[in-house]
Amino acid sequence: MNLYKPEYVHCNGERFKVYLTDEEIQSRVRQIGKKISSDFLDKKPIFIGVLNGAFIFLSDLMRYVDIPCEVDFLKLSSYGDDKVSSGEVTELKQIDAEIRGRHVILVEDIVDTGLSIKFLVEKLKRSEPASLSTVTLLHKTEKTQHDVQLDYVGFRIASLFVLGYGLDYAQEGRNLAQIYILDGDSD
Ligand code: 5GP
Repeated sequence: MNLYKPEYVHCNGERFKVYLTDEEIQSRVRQIGKKISSDFLDKKPIFIGVLNGAFIFLSDLMRYVDIPCEVDFLKLSSYGDDKVSSGEVTELKQIDAEIRGRHVILVEDIVDTGLSIKFLVEKLKRSEPASLSTVTLLHKTEKTQHDVQLDYVGFRIASLFVLGYGLDYAQEGRNLAQIYILDGDSD
């Protein structure tokens, strides 16, 4: 497959540079997939992806999982066209699956303040799953203000705005195969 992975990219008039390469991302996602496969052997987990941002991570992650599993999605409101969180969570789409008694794995693209994942964990727990685990590709550790349970973390990153591999800037850039930061920012 001819992946879209330039060294620099312009998005909404701003220049971004590579922060995590395609190889780094795939290698880590493969490791997490293997770990989940052994942790959930004989449990037929159901992955719940948080749209829109987690769709690429989840589709890669699931292909590294080699045990029976299912998938469903929910959708939260995004950053809008901004680079900072509005501090509000609104649910735009609910899951269709019945998760009572199931082993649920909630899949996020990124945990920033922790507000979204805290909201979702509390909500999903009310449906009484057999277990509830969380996976995030990225975690901005310094910015997390809420008490969140993160069971599988791809990369712990600095407090920088990131783009690509499902993550957008005003809806653009999700198709980039790598993760980018603003050209002026350093890690
Ligand atoms: P939190 O609720 O943890 O503050 O934010 C989580 C959500 O904010 C993520 O699912 C993602 O949609 C968005 N988000 C947080 N940081 C970034 C970022 O650096 N880039 C992009 N594109 N979205 C982000």
